[in-house]
Amino acid sequence: MRIIAYIYSDPLLESAPSTDIWGLEIDRVYQDLGDHQQLEQLIADCTIEKANYLLVRRLEELGDNIEMISDRLGKLEALGIEIIATEQDYSSVGWQQLSNYAPHDSTEPHLKLNLSKLLQQIQTNKQRTRLKQGHARNRLKILPPPGKAPYGYRRGQDKYIIDKSTAPVVKDFFERFLLFGSLRGAVKYLEKRYGKKISPSTGRNWLTNPVYRGCLKYKNNEIISHTHAEIINPEEAAQIDRLLRRNSRLPTRTASAPRSLAGLVICQQCQLTMNITRVTQHQKKAEYLYLRCHKCPQQPKCRAIAYAQVLERIIDKICVELPQAVAQPNLPDNSTIKAKLKQEVTQKQAVINQLPTLLQQGILDRETVELRNYNLRTEISELENKIAQLPPGNLQAIAQAVSLPQFWLDLSEAERRFYFREFIKQIKITRNNSQAWDLKLVFIF
Ligand SMILES: [Zn+2]
Repeated sequence: MRIIAYIYSDPLLESAPSTDIWGLEIDRVYQDLGDHQQLEQLIADCTIEKANYLLVRRLEELGDNIEMISDRLGKLEALGIEIIATEQDYSSVGWQQLSNYAPHDSTEPHLKLNLSKLLQQIQTNKQRTRLKQGHARNRLKILPPPGKAPYGYRRGQDKYIIDKSTAPVVKDFFERFLLFGSLRGAVKYLEKRYGKKISPSTGRNWLTNPVYRGCLKYKNNEIISHTHAEIINPEEAAQIDRLLRRNSRLPTRTASAPRSLAGLVICQQCQLTMNITRVTQHQKKAEYLYLRCHKCPQQPKCRAIAYAQVLERIIDKICVELPQAVAQPNLPDNSTIKAKLKQEVTQKQAVINQLPTLLQQGILDRETVELRNYNLRTEISELENKIAQLPPGNLQAIAQAVSLPQFWLDLSEAERRFYFREFIKQIKITRNNSQAWDLKLVFIF
């Protein structure tokens, strides 16, 4: 018994499947990419050497339209070949029989195709494929997906163009978010400043929309960078991502939100973490917070210090010391990783640059060049995204942004806590005598 198999795949829509997907020994696998040349070869070969079974994944793979498919089916059947489509319903029984087939079995399975049943299914599949192919061709040409351009842009002939009247609004929104790290705050600001009403979820979509970062994102989730003018640069984009990640972990702004200094401050004297205690005065609304050595072993005990005072001094100190700490040359850096990623980008860019020549010389055809170009640019986008997410590159920029006292004062305690933990491992309180105290920031780097 001779079993052959045929695989057709459209390189626009899928990468070529492996030839050993059948789970049983095949005498020969014919494979086509984008045309049906090998199928013709298969039919020609079968006129010389008879095959008993032909395995395909789906009948649609036999042609571009129903006429072609029926024609090939007719030819193959006329050659006495039983066709089994492994991914379509009707084939399951036949598949079972074939798997259990023993060469000496007298009752050879007879598998008849029910074309009329499949006709509708094939037609629908073909229509879907054609639509996908259209989108895929546009994608390969790196054209924007169908539909309205996002706010801040308008559709140009082959790419998005900055809309000079609305883009500054979007830009301002991003800057506001970067400054205060609050989505709702930025949304409110937009309405107050420009009368532009958007919902927080729209605001969130803006913050993550690749279009504002100069990239196109397609339905298949692939991203191509540098397709049009960006509204935010990669560093800002990476910072937005960090803020969003941090905010998503933040508890909602409630009275029970953890204090920004909780667990961070230790008493140098007794090496104990200082607790936060709350004191409310009788019949008064005001509450006072203190930092106190928990179970202080000293005699007399270390004095409690007003929380607000410590916080104020920490903010002053961080604004002075953080830029210095970040500027240190011995910072653990990811420069080697970064250099390696950048080198990969350069290499891929070099391949892209060669493509026009290869096309001109007739080594590659236009479709292959477009596909290769598309894939390389997707890979470059992924690499660039990795580079942007590397922390040390951003650290300088972040340190600059957070070295203004106003920045810290505008944050809620919960937000402040997250920022502190981004940079500070520990805060040590040192005491000179019973009254005076000082503090020392221990950065995480
Ligand atoms: Zn103490």
